[in-house]
Amino acid sequence: MNSDESLKKLKEGNGRFVKNSPSKKDYTARRMELISGQHPFVTVLACADSRIIANYIFDANLGEIFTVKNAGNLADDDITLGSLEYGAAHLHTPLLVVMGHEGCGAVGATCGCKGKSDEGHISSIVKAIAPTAEKDSYDVTKCIVDNVKETVKAIPKKSRIIKRIMDEKKLKIVGAYYSMSTGKVEFFL
Ligand SMILES: [Zn+2]
Repeated sequence: MNSDESLKKLKEGNGRFVKNSPSKKDYTARRMELISGQHPFVTVLACADSRIIANYIFDANLGEIFTVKNAGNLADDDITLGSLEYGAAHLHTPLLVVMGHEGCGAVGATCGCKGKSDEGHISSIVKAIAPTAEKDSYDVTKCIVDNVKETVKAIPKKSRIIKRIMDEKKLKIVGAYYSMSTGKVEFFL
């Protein structure tokens, strides 16, 4: 599967989710099928928010989406970057989607405190979003979108492995915004 086919599959799945008509899944059969290994068709970096579940949003089965989650869908730490590299380099997913979402609490909190927090490790999340929040004059909706765009740009700068796979035309990174109100995912192409 190439990145276009992967994106098409995501859009089709999201279409079913929006219509509230998910495909029928046999989890037991699929689980057994996957014991020997996984071949997901996409890597998704999404927010840790409990309402943001990629497999539901894209109506995907077990083993189809390699999901990396953290509050604010950031790619600032080594574990996240390592997970994204694993998806691209070892699982060979042709597409990496960075998905922000309506009502993101991480972005909302950063805008709310004007990028200043000293609360344990939460301050690291705020610090990572702060430059974008400041640029967007602490407008939450604008910052959610720009935070995704910044992350898309940052990933190949921070990861030589991902940059190489992109240069080989084996990986595309796209940003996306999930509207909780409509269920629709809009891709930034
Ligand atoms: Zn969020």
